[in-house]
Amino acid sequence: MVQERDSCGGATSQAPQSAAHLSVVVDLPQHSGMRGPLTYTHPIALPPGTLVQVPLGKREVLGLVWDAPVVQGTPDGPPQGWTLRPLSAVLEQLPPLSAHWRRLMAFTADYYQRGLGELALSVLPPELRKATPAALERRSARLGQALAKDAARAQQQQTAETAPALPTLTAEQAAVLQAMSTPEHSSSAPVLLHGVTGSGKTEVYLQLAQQALEQGHQVLVMVPEINLTPQLESRLRERFAGRRLVTLHSGLTPAQRVNHWLQAHLGQADLLLGTRLSVMASLPRLGLIVVDEEHDPSYKQQEGARYSARDLAVYRAHQEGIRVVLGSATPSLESWRHAQQGRYRLLRMPTRVGAGELPKVELVDLNLQPRGVAGGAGGSLLSTALIAAVQERIDRGEQSLLLLNRRGYAPVLQCGACSWKSACAHCSAWQVFHKVDRSLRCHHCGAAQRVPRACPDCGNLDLSAVGRGTERLEEQLPPLLRGREGGPARILRIDADTTRRAGSLQSQLAQVHDGDVDVLVGTQMVAKGHDFRRITLVAAVNPDGALFTSDFRAPERLFALLMQAAGRAGRDAEQSERSRMLIQTGHPTHPLVQALKRHDYEAFAASQLEEREAVGLPPFSHLAVLRVEARTVEAAQAFLADATAWVRADLDAFGSAHSPITVYPAVPAPVARVADLERWQMLLESTSRPALQVLLRQWSPQLLALREAHRGVVRWALDVDPLSL
Ligand code: ADP
Ligand code: ZN
Ligand code: ZN
Repeated sequence: MVQERDSCGGATSQAPQSAAHLSVVVDLPQHSGMRGPLTYTHPIALPPGTLVQVPLGKREVLGLVWDAPVVQGTPDGPPQGWTLRPLSAVLEQLPPLSAHWRRLMAFTADYYQRGLGELALSVLPPELRKATPAALERRSARLGQALAKDAARAQQQQTAETAPALPTLTAEQAAVLQAMSTPEHSSSAPVLLHGVTGSGKTEVYLQLAQQALEQGHQVLVMVPEINLTPQLESRLRERFAGRRLVTLHSGLTPAQRVNHWLQAHLGQADLLLGTRLSVMASLPRLGLIVVDEEHDPSYKQQEGARYSARDLAVYRAHQEGIRVVLGSATPSLESWRHAQQGRYRLLRMPTRVGAGELPKVELVDLNLQPRGVAGGAGGSLLSTALIAAVQERIDRGEQSLLLLNRRGYAPVLQCGACSWKSACAHCSAWQVFHKVDRSLRCHHCGAAQRVPRACPDCGNLDLSAVGRGTERLEEQLPPLLRGREGGPARILRIDADTTRRAGSLQSQLAQVHDGDVDVLVGTQMVAKGHDFRRITLVAAVNPDGALFTSDFRAPERLFALLMQAAGRAGRDAEQSERSRMLIQTGHPTHPLVQALKRHDYEAFAASQLEEREAVGLPPFSHLAVLRVEARTVEAAQAFLADATAWVRADLDAFGSAHSPITVYPAVPAPVARVADLERWQMLLESTSRPALQVLLRQWSPQLLALREAHRGVVRWALDVDPLSL
């Protein structure tokens, strides 16, 4: 433990001599180099997990009493002659955070190489960190009153209303639930529920939740992106009308966030539905964790502590001895391999509810299409087969979904006379042309400007848009389609640009559900989770880009996205027989495309795992990336050179312990410059997770120490189990 007299530490000169010594974690800035708890005094000992206010330098901050109280004079105690400062206040209204929760924090901080205090305090609601004891007392009292009112209302309703009728389980649902209830499998081995879209996974979650609630437990249900799964929240609310459900996600106001967190922590909430951060919530009666769409990359935090909420859910369940269910139609290859090794228990639901079929996948071979058809100018073509299929749906009063995973009008604007292109001045990327407001926008740094009237380099007036985004697709479709009553076809675009205002996504989805839309154009946003009832055609307009990128996970993601998109079609069993997925591709024989055609996740997974094993990529190895952002390339390289030198020296010295670790040379990041910062990275790879962890644990203090000598480095971070390289 390190303490500094004036700047950060808790030491001054006026502490009572006979007080208890408490170790308290506070949010210390990373660059302070201090990661462990600080020591404060208090007249009496306080249980670990108690929230307290402590002086830190000249500030008052929130802290958490941590486990081992530090005794003065022990090796971990303050240096001789130091006196300790007392706690300022104890937040007595709040029960202490549990030992389970503290262990989760300690594990996460250690595994992802972050400061314990930084992590533990950052996952508490920001409002809590500002709260005075008096304000907290008022808030808790209000929550208590609201709870009493709710209870009274629920009691009244129970005597008017009957419980909602439960659906008769399908044979597959019943088998899965049965398998989970047999004694030998009611153990806490994680369950991987591999169920095709529409197989009724949600009903399985609801039944498991019901069981847990009846036993007096709390239930945590995690989703990758809460705004994209409105049905799940309403289904939970409907099924558990008498129970209190709260949500946790970044879309809440600070006041909502602290209220919901408190209800979970105080045990008032029975169900918590949330995004990745909810895995860190305090749930004293937790009995079940469900991770829906477990393969989704949104479960990985991309800044600060770069944790995988899916992996932490598994850790948390194991540690608390409770069940965790990971559900997906296209499990991550990590989870799939765990299941194959028997570490996770695999349960399957291969058919759709109600004899519904998955849409038949048809390939449109772009090599065979005549050039220049339908909207071909300025973008890859829209095949006649695709247009005909959409028209057929319009004529029948059904809906189509056109998936194009690129927003904006065109990815780049170009001069016809010289070589000018709309490069971002701050990034190594093109600025995207948005026609709606005639702007050029960088999707990396956010820089935006009006479209120039003439080429900035040569003055030529003829600037052309190259390629196609959702805006352009939306514009190209109307002349190619007839609406039902002779009018224009009704086309709606949904992407990050059309859904910026709060509530706009919901109202746009309502238009689709109400049948006011013939063709829905959208990015991956519309492929996820929605229970559309009238869509009978899903078309992937231009998925080929992801087949050949340097990102080794790109095929896995593309397969998951297209399977999920396919799942939006034919959800109404009556229409499922004529539902289709069309894939426009120049590579119809590609194994990914072929597996997709057969809806064959298992074949796809097997081929991917084979490829990964051959080259030693995850899940056959474990990765950590050191990412650096610096003002110059030289500064980034110098930092990484020193960091590399340390690792190599360490591996030389302790070769046997770390032998399975490979150190790769530093390279520029895929987007090498963002917002005027140069981004470089280096990769460590090991077949042994523990060996990698040992090395990282020793390396991170070295990296902290390097900062002093490398002022040109603005940020650096370790990314353990990175999702992208
Ligand atoms: P998944 O989550 O696997 O994609 P859902 O849980 O959304 O599938 O189920 C698809 C549809 O089938 C939903 O409309 C749901 O209400 C319905 N459903 C699920 N289970 C049953 C059942 N046992 N009987 C009737 N309908 C069901
Ligand atoms: Zn020009
Ligand atoms: Zn930029």
